[in-house]
Amino acid sequence: MIEVRNLQKSYGDFAVLRNVSFTVARGEKIVILGPSGSGKSTLIRCFNRIEPHDAGEITIDGERIDQKTELTRLRCMVGMVFQNYNLFPHLTVLENCALPPRVVKGAGREDAEELAMNFLHRVNIADQARKYPIQLSGGQQQRVAIARALCMQPSVMLFDEPTAALDPEAVSGVADIMASLSADGMTTLCVTHEMGFARRIADRIIFMDQGRILESAPPEVFFTQPRTERARDFLSQMI
Ligand code: ADP
Ligand code: MG
Repeated sequence: MIEVRNLQKSYGDFAVLRNVSFTVARGEKIVILGPSGSGKSTLIRCFNRIEPHDAGEITIDGERIDQKTELTRLRCMVGMVFQNYNLFPHLTVLENCALPPRVVKGAGREDAEELAMNFLHRVNIADQARKYPIQLSGGQQQRVAIARALCMQPSVMLFDEPTAALDPEAVSGVADIMASLSADGMTTLCVTHEMGFARRIADRIIFMDQGRILESAPPEVFFTQPRTERARDFLSQMI
């Protein structure tokens, strides 16, 4: 589904991604772990070209992602959920979800709202459809943000620390949603610092440090027998 080969990116002299290579199978759930500043956000932001990469190749569903990729179509293929939800404050929950298909795909209002309601049901928040984001808890807002991304019917979902701003109870609500997306076969890359969450949703853990992938292993292997000193240090600080 996804192939990343020798991906490189620098900000000025600073190399953020150094020869990153990996593949993701269709339906696979990847969790990306690593210390702050290791390049995790930059890596997943290259997938939908929020950040352009300097060298190397990203292929998603057989398609090369580069400067020639049409952004509108790319954003339909690749959905993204951020730490701070990034909902439109002046729009209701329903409008937040219906807007992207209308603007990007040219869907009519009724169709877009019907689609939005389906996905709001999917994340268990349809009863809040007429409210504004500020009237919702953080966990509810994040579920709306997930529904909004799903409304574009992407083939890949990217999550950048989706639970970082949430209390523990809300974390498990978002984890439930992500686990049920897995059951639907959605291909997912998720950056998180929540180890419990990582264990629960990951098929495979990718561990990054200083712009490189140091480990790539199933969670039961990574958490019990990390191969590198760096990963052992990282894990010991997490407990
Ligand atoms: P992570 O998500 O793992 O914490 P990031 O991908 O956000 O790491 O950042 C990796 C490094 O790149 C950090 O040292 C950060 O300061 C730097 N960086 C990120 N974005 C920019 C930018 N737009 N300009 C310059 N440096 C940046
Ligand atoms: Mg980050």
